[in-house]
Amino acid sequence: MKTQIYDGNDLFKVNCNLYGYEDLNHAETLEAIRQGFEDNFKADLIVELDRIGLKFIRLKTFSPTYYNYDGDSIDLEIGIVDVKKYINAVAENETAINELLEANKSYDGYFARTTASTVEEIKDAKEDPDFTPDIICLSYLLSKKIDFTGGIDIGDYFVFDYECMNDDCKNERENVDDELCPSCQAKEDLKNKE
Ligand SMILES: [Zn+2]
Repeated sequence: MKTQIYDGNDLFKVNCNLYGYEDLNHAETLEAIRQGFEDNFKADLIVELDRIGLKFIRLKTFSPTYYNYDGDSIDLEIGIVDVKKYINAVAENETAINELLEANKSYDGYFARTTASTVEEIKDAKEDPDFTPDIICLSYLLSKKIDFTGGIDIGDYFVFDYECMNDDCKNERENVDDELCPSCQAKEDLKNKE
């Protein structure tokens, strides 16, 4: 079975990039968001993907090595099971999908490698043995049935890192707004008194 991974930030339109958030335990937060996606959407994704000839494989976390071009995301891996079912789904939603594809072209190549139209998507699906669904087409077909953006708030999954900001100390801060752990704070207060 041919498989494909989609960038969840584009597919679900839920931005999971943690770059710039302070005091987060990055790995634990991203995994918590992934689990949140699974709890909220996995059951629906299995049903909706199956309806359009595709198979849910997994939701996986992605973090870029450098943040220049890419951000953290929760990505979806699918398998291509029944191309005819997928073609029918695209054909049934031609007007709406073509509007989205047209709108995307004016984004100055935001999704540079997207398909030109539903006609091209269907032609590729029929003729290309390496065919994988276009992200805009897939995003539309899934979002039509599943409310991704209204279904999840990544802030609900933040795991804070409470480590003391004194580099020699391994204690945790009591509050995320504190700079130091209670013991370092007490020492600091004492010093200031002297
Ligand atoms: Zn400390």
